[in-house]
Amino acid sequence: MMEAIKAPRGTRDILADESWKWAHVLKICREVARDFGYNEVLLPIFEHTELFSRGIGDTTDVVEKEMYTFIDRGDRSITLRPELTASMVRSYLEHDMIHQPQPVKLWGHGPMFRYERPQKGRYRQFQQVDFETLGAANPLADVETIDTSMEIYRRLGISNLQVLINSVGCPECRPVFRSALQNFIGDRLGDFCETCQSRFERNPLRVLDCKKPGCKELTESAPVVLDSLCGDCRSHFDMVTSGLSRIGADFRTDNRLVRGLDYYTKTAYEILAGELGSQNAVCGGGRYDNLAEAIGGPHVPGVGFASGIERIVLTMEGQGAYPGEKPGTCVYVVAASPEAGLEAASLVHEIRSKGISADTDYMNRALKAQMKRASSIGAEIVCIIGSEEMESGTVGFKDMTSGVQEPIPRSEVMARLTAWKEARR
Ligand code: AMP
Repeated sequence: MMEAIKAPRGTRDILADESWKWAHVLKICREVARDFGYNEVLLPIFEHTELFSRGIGDTTDVVEKEMYTFIDRGDRSITLRPELTASMVRSYLEHDMIHQPQPVKLWGHGPMFRYERPQKGRYRQFQQVDFETLGAANPLADVETIDTSMEIYRRLGISNLQVLINSVGCPECRPVFRSALQNFIGDRLGDFCETCQSRFERNPLRVLDCKKPGCKELTESAPVVLDSLCGDCRSHFDMVTSGLSRIGADFRTDNRLVRGLDYYTKTAYEILAGELGSQNAVCGGGRYDNLAEAIGGPHVPGVGFASGIERIVLTMEGQGAYPGEKPGTCVYVVAASPEAGLEAASLVHEIRSKGISADTDYMNRALKAQMKRASSIGAEIVCIIGSEEMESGTVGFKDMTSGVQEPIPRSEVMARLTAWKEARR
């Protein structure tokens, strides 16, 4: 026999026991987006490679090692998007949103692709929700961004999150910090891990991000970015922290937080969940005032965040924050004899057309097996039609919660079901 084909490494099938939780997450995101004034956009899954190499930065792990890039049949270099921010800014520029009242607040969601080493909470295809505010340089827009993400988790019933915040400076002050850090690392380069050594020249800030205990210890006394900020970045950071305190947000400054994407300026933040293990970031975001210019547009300040849906769901499961019960079928129509099949099909059609979820049997099961099936799918009402009911123009109406069954005229079934549905609203 031929070997069965499996899904590619790093991808997952989201099956029925989980997909309803995803629908709930997106429902909450949609509600938060409405309440915070973000409009949804649906953007392409692939883009020109240049968008990411110029936007995210050539020396980042994402661009250097993780992109799914290919040449299409028209000889263009195309990349499956590894994140959404660059596409959001491209779309903003391409559709002249700069001429709309600012800021323009957009949100979107969908699959992202990164060739990473798969493990719990880290996949090669994963889904993000992404919220961006374009056109506002005001630090209070950063506060709103962080508040938006926290509101999503709050409404999902997730708690015990750690909000970490830092500033990564701007093109004016970052080079000063970068060279101070390089001097510090250079003096002990041999003691760092191989990855840190390779980042030393091209992307030294990422050395601060290394999770290896040896490197962490070495950078404990490293220069701190907050000490090198220029006046503008310092007052921006102070306003963000004041704003967060003012809305009662629980956050902590983490001067090692640098994030993996080059476009960040000033604010960078992450939200961590203990339930996630080593891949513990449920959300990452910050400000990117130079991204629009990097991809060929004018200066457009921006701030936003992305949160991975797999990690949101893992956190919800870890905390037992379930959005109620998995939605099931309300009504099951049982055809208790072969002649009743057509009548059952017609009743199920009618029930569904009134917006009540209903199902029936197509497997010619015996009456007992159909009743078992009804209870296993969680049906609350069962309508039974057999030869006796066909003759008398009735339907056996069984309330599965109370166990009470009574015959009612066929003509009254819909009214009973509609009243029952109203009562349980
Ligand atoms: P980033 O775009 O790297 O700032 O990541 C933002 C968020 O997306 C992270 O906090 C995670 O929740 C999620 N995420 C990033 N990479 C992955 C991945 N490979 N698998 C699953 N989730 C991811």
